[in-house]
Amino acid sequence: MLKEKRALVTGSTSGIGLAIARALAAEGAEVILNGLGNPEEIAQLCQELGASYNGANLMKPDEIAAMMADIGPIDILVNNAGMQHVAPVEDFPPDKWDAIIALNLSAAFHTTRLAVPGMKAKGWGRIIATASAHSLVASPYKSAYVAAKHAIAGFTKTIALELATHGITANCISPGYVWTPLVENQIPDTMAARGMTREQVLNEVLLAKQPTRSFVTPEDVAALAVFLCSDAARNITGANYAIDGGWTAE
Ligand code: NAD
Repeated sequence: MLKEKRALVTGSTSGIGLAIARALAAEGAEVILNGLGNPEEIAQLCQELGASYNGANLMKPDEIAAMMADIGPIDILVNNAGMQHVAPVEDFPPDKWDAIIALNLSAAFHTTRLAVPGMKAKGWGRIIATASAHSLVASPYKSAYVAAKHAIAGFTKTIALELATHGITANCISPGYVWTPLVENQIPDTMAARGMTREQVLNEVLLAKQPTRSFVTPEDVAALAVFLCSDAARNITGANYAIDGGWTAE
């Protein structure tokens, strides 16, 4: 379905981004991976997916610009790379605030502004942000993440309007909790911020949000991304799809 399409998936060496990269490659897209990680494992992934790799640090706009120049025009851009930090606002480290805004929000602006001219030239494009249930609702102790995710939802709606007559769609996918390193790594800080055990964090903080009482899978998110890249989704733009086991329905 996506033969002849070139897709950049940021933060695709792990978790949700890797599942999206795998799913796009399975549909025939030529995938460009990005993210941090062990060079040998990344080389193996490239071989498995017939993909190439650019290791730009997305917190650095000049590295993003170099990556976009290096990879050339793309048809599909998945703004997925992200990080989390959990702390009460008065203790929230300012450098963590800046890092989360840079990676979860500003990086998407820089990739998008540099990808759009090529998409406009072809009259076809798909821009997808892995936003979050936290683009729609808040949770305590996640001020930077919730701010960045609400902002990327606004950014995505704005570009959807700007690009609507160019055959380019822009949408958010907003997962609830997906079991990936990003979720696993926030458990110790959440235990500290809330004075809870690991079991309590899992059941009373994470799964308590999701009426299904189960984690979303990276593959669930990837399947929605593939649909949004299809021609059947050409009239879906400016949307924000929750895939959160019912969390934001409450
Ligand atoms: P993850 O930690 O498994 O993957 C994050 C990816 O981002 C990795 O490939 C990592 O190498 C990359 N990355 C980190 N810093 C980077 C940098 N400076 N430059 C380039 N790449 C960098 O996390 P995940 O759960 O798969 O998260 C992916 C996206 O999904 C994030 O935007 C996250 O906010 C969002 N999300 C996750 C969940 C969840 O529950 N896991 C829920 C909603 C939204």
